[in-house]
Amino acid sequence: MSAITYDYIEKYIRGLIKDERPIIDEIEKYAKENKVPIIHKEVAKFLELMINLKKPSKILELGTAIGYSAILMEIASNNKCEIVTIERDNHMVSIAKGNIKKFGFSHKIKVIEGDCLEVLEDLEEKYDLIFMDAGKGHYNHFLPNCLRLLNKNGVIIADNVLFRGMVASDELVKRRKITIVKRMREFLDLVSQQEFITSVIPMGDGIAVITRRKDYE
Ligand code: SAM
Repeated sequence: MSAITYDYIEKYIRGLIKDERPIIDEIEKYAKENKVPIIHKEVAKFLELMINLKKPSKILELGTAIGYSAILMEIASNNKCEIVTIERDNHMVSIAKGNIKKFGFSHKIKVIEGDCLEVLEDLEEKYDLIFMDAGKGHYNHFLPNCLRLLNKNGVIIADNVLFRGMVASDELVKRRKITIVKRMREFLDLVSQQEFITSVIPMGDGIAVITRRKDYE
């Protein structure tokens, strides 16, 4: 039970997603066997949809892990977008680079090794889509730089914003997760201000889709 939605709903929706891509299956299998957290299938489908609608030419991802979501986003763009993705774990970085190479995407997906808190400070180029999927306890800290790096009509998609339901209900909060939950609530409060149009969707572990309101650009 995800505590975000009903199991039977999740199972049904996942059953509708019938992508068959052998190399992708291999990465999913590796993630499962090695307990590497990767985006849920329905979130992957949502990203694919957003990329087809928005047609971003530059994507920034926070949290590469083994490159699964970055590869899926590149495929979704029909190999048209440039992706910069940040990961602090060097073992993950080397697996991600290997996977990206297998797809022939090394010239399209750049993996930066480092902590998002530091790497974001040094980035200058603007992005059309920013996918936040690293360091749930720091989304509130990442936000100012993400907004600085977001193009005028850009979109931020943040994963895990409901964090197993804990963000929405004190009753579900585990003591050792209190700080993460507080900071995630702070993040959601920030992006719920008037200057943004934000939709929080109870999908996967909860996603937030954020864009700047026109009058505030
Ligand atoms: N987006 C990936 C996918 O779906 O294929 C999954 C990313 S996983 C949920 C989060 C990753 O972020 C982990 O590999 C972790 O090492 C990394 N991470 C966590 N905090 C970070 C930080 N502050 N800076 C950079 N990477 C971080």
